[in-house]
Amino acid sequence: MLATVDALLPLSLLEAVRDVDTPGDLDAEFVDELRNKRLGLSDTVYSQIKRYTDAVKRRQRTPQDDSTALARLIGRRPDAEAVFRAAGRYLARASYMTLSPVTRRLLRFLPSFIARPWALRRLRRLCARHLNGTARRVGGYVLLEVPRSVTLGTAPGSVGCAFYEAALREMLRLLIGSVGSVDHVRCEGRGEGTCEWRADWRSVARE
Ligand SMILES: [Zn+2]
Repeated sequence: MLATVDALLPLSLLEAVRDVDTPGDLDAEFVDELRNKRLGLSDTVYSQIKRYTDAVKRRQRTPQDDSTALARLIGRRPDAEAVFRAAGRYLARASYMTLSPVTRRLLRFLPSFIARPWALRRLRRLCARHLNGTARRVGGYVLLEVPRSVTLGTAPGSVGCAFYEAALREMLRLLIGSVGSVDHVRCEGRGEGTCEWRADWRSVARE
């Protein structure tokens, strides 16, 4: 069976590239000139972003290989890690925004003994849907396991793994309002079978 990922994943990679490559206060003429030089501003990227945005609206899944090809393009850049992190944050925010406004508000304001178990269920669902990952709680930690990483081997060392780490970190910030340490405890890139992250689930800031 063809491996697939939610369309939000490749969209987040492309949005991060566009964002990093978009100059701040430059005039239009110069932007046109840059466009030809920078991947993130090319017409191809714009049309791909449009295509994946439509796919996200239709809740489509896309071939995993397409996302890996995008990750490989990012992996060749000297700023690969920063782009992967930006993409992870983008994905987490867009994923979080699929929750209803009422849910988002209640998660923030209910007492944590009610909100935490609820937040964990949401986290598990969002990680499964948008990251092909499995999140589970073990004691005071949450473990995120990604058996088929899209970014694995697309950049030197474990640089590609920064995408998932940044996504988890941002999801926790949004869902429970606090982030402790997030560690990459197992890495397929080091021959450890799968990529896994461990994050603090104990309250840090809000209790
Ligand atoms: Zn890894």
